[in-house]
Amino acid sequence: MAEQESLKYGKGDFVLLDEVTKDAFMKNLKLRFEKERIYSYIGEVVVSVNPYKTLNIFGNDKIQEYRMREMYERPPHIFALADAAYRTMKRRSEDTCIVISGESGAGKTEASKVIMKYISAVTNVSKQAEVDRVKDILLKSNAILESFGNAKTNRNDNSSRFGKYMDIDFDFKGDPVGGHIFNYLLEKSRVVKQQEGERNFHAFYQLLNGATTETLKEFHLNKKAEDYHFINQGKCFQVKAINDKVDYKENCDAMNSIGFTPDERSSIWKLVAAIIHLGNLQFADDNREQATVVHGDTELPNLAFLLGTEAKDVKKALCFRVVAAGGSVVEKAHHAKDASYGREALAKAMYDRLFTWIVSRINDTIELRDMASHGKCTVIGVLDIYGFEIFDNNSFEQLCINYCNEKLQQLFIELVLKQEQEEYKKEGIQWEEIDYFNNKVICDLIEQNRKGILSILDEGCRNIGNVSDQMLLQTMDQQLGKHAHYKSRLTDPSDKKMEFHRDFCIKHYAGDVIYSVSGFLDKNKDNLFQDFKRLLFNSSHKILKDMWPEGKDDITKVTQRPPTAGALFKASMIALAEKLAAKKPFYVRCIKPNDIKSSTTFDDKRVGHQVDYLGLMENLRVRRAGFAFRMHYKRFLQRYKMIATKTWPTYNGDEKDGVKAIINETGFSSDVKFGHTKLFIRTPKTVFELEQKRTE
Ligand code: ATP
Ligand code: MG
Repeated sequence: MAEQESLKYGKGDFVLLDEVTKDAFMKNLKLRFEKERIYSYIGEVVVSVNPYKTLNIFGNDKIQEYRMREMYERPPHIFALADAAYRTMKRRSEDTCIVISGESGAGKTEASKVIMKYISAVTNVSKQAEVDRVKDILLKSNAILESFGNAKTNRNDNSSRFGKYMDIDFDFKGDPVGGHIFNYLLEKSRVVKQQEGERNFHAFYQLLNGATTETLKEFHLNKKAEDYHFINQGKCFQVKAINDKVDYKENCDAMNSIGFTPDERSSIWKLVAAIIHLGNLQFADDNREQATVVHGDTELPNLAFLLGTEAKDVKKALCFRVVAAGGSVVEKAHHAKDASYGREALAKAMYDRLFTWIVSRINDTIELRDMASHGKCTVIGVLDIYGFEIFDNNSFEQLCINYCNEKLQQLFIELVLKQEQEEYKKEGIQWEEIDYFNNKVICDLIEQNRKGILSILDEGCRNIGNVSDQMLLQTMDQQLGKHAHYKSRLTDPSDKKMEFHRDFCIKHYAGDVIYSVSGFLDKNKDNLFQDFKRLLFNSSHKILKDMWPEGKDDITKVTQRPPTAGALFKASMIALAEKLAAKKPFYVRCIKPNDIKSSTTFDDKRVGHQVDYLGLMENLRVRRAGFAFRMHYKRFLQRYKMIATKTWPTYNGDEKDGVKAIINETGFSSDVKFGHTKLFIRTPKTVFELEQKRTE
């Protein structure tokens, strides 16, 4: 039966392939995709291929099929992984996490929703109101976060432009009683600039298409989307798969039901409107070469109203800088060019803070308040984060994203590969050392204190003189030129793909990526004039004021330089890695079958790359070299002694010998090894057959 199934639909678990070659792997994956078998396993890792069509495999009937079953008992499904993570958490009171990775459009966010749906469906059977409230918030928060954090890109109509990690806290009964969302590096450059064919964040279009005429009038938004600079650059306004009007309503309803006050909701939308207005501001130099706002008479009062401040203050913050020099305070006028740069920085910073504020506002409502009544909580973490990015032009953002993927790969190696090998050693099992690439050396290249790329970059930002991006590259060449995973045109003149004085290349575990240093220093400094912070801190909108606490600092006070974007990101990645490392991990590896969103095309080359980036062959080799299952002798005896009718019930010797006798009697000896304390079973099939014998 299992044999027939695998002939028709391919092997459900890649571990069972006859040969471990990329060819065999690809053939199997393709066959399964064509037969709508979008899920497969590599041991406990789920490989998921985006079907690009609605499949009828996520209903309640399916949920029931996978409840409380071992992964190998049913055909591969993401529900099985969700159930395994849930059971481990509940039965063993062990924190678990589910790490979902893959490139843009591979199906990570959809996978995380399927997992949430499963967890929601199998919990709170006793219908407690508080648990229902928490579940509702966890599910509804998605609509809000997607509105403000997702955008239409050329790769994905609903692309998450931020990383998300969510901890769900469960009480001793296994019901969700709280949670916490962590957000990582929102792509804020999108607020002021979009590539052809792409849009700004959904929220902008939701407001323009969904708000009532009165609201739009109140916000002075009387133009068409096409006429607003911050949302028209991609020349894309409508997306087939998206109804902005419906989504606006859903977003507002979600904010309402989570408990955002009317005041908060109104301030949020006013902020979004203010950003739209900022985009249309124009500056000109007057005869003293000082910036002035073109049509300031109408534009500035509009902005002032939306930001809860005065027109004269808005004007001052946009056109002047107040600096403290030698104990006195002086006002310096901007040139038009600087004023224009400043308002872009302001728009990006306001949106970024807004997003973070929204996340923390959601967190407030699900934070565990009454720890004592729940006892000790156990956690399932779900990570949905950007995959490896290699574009034609890679900048600071790609460096951060790819660094994040190096960290996750490092964790994967640490947790899965290394621990696996160490356990065999500990148990005295013969093990052929399998060769794998440890990417710690690349993590170090990027993050090491004083020596790594991020440190060199920070040093460049600290220098008060005029350090240029090109000088930064020179320093990197000097300090990293000999590193096995770094090169530039100066250190390797033969590599014509790079430009002199502009590009450097990191040999990532997933492949070589050429980065252009242009803009690195500026993006890392991530400066916002103090004048803007003061302006927003003095807003009459409470939430705006709360977002900008630094604005209260006195001008003459010597303020500490805020941490750089790179330093903040590095700290957040280290903290994330620590959070994940403390949990038992489950992995979902998502694959995008083609670039044309087709449900029938399997693009071998594109998929092949992803199989490489995700390290799936390495994963499979370790899994094959290793053992799919292991069980303490005592537990094994409890579970399977009844299947060996000759040995039992008369046997009363040592546990290990007892297990040996069972294995010999049932004929599985070629597929197992006996460790000091545990039995190791090589293939899932054996476990399946043992299970079958049990039920016979
Ligand atoms: P990004 O990194 O850009 O956020 P992602 O990996 O989160 O990408 P998703 O947004 O989850 O990608 O998926 C992209 C699109 O693919 C979805 O909007 C949906 O149309 C389709 N899709 C993904 N998974 C499934 C699925 N299981 N069933 C049907 N369609 C799917
Ligand atoms: Mg996503």
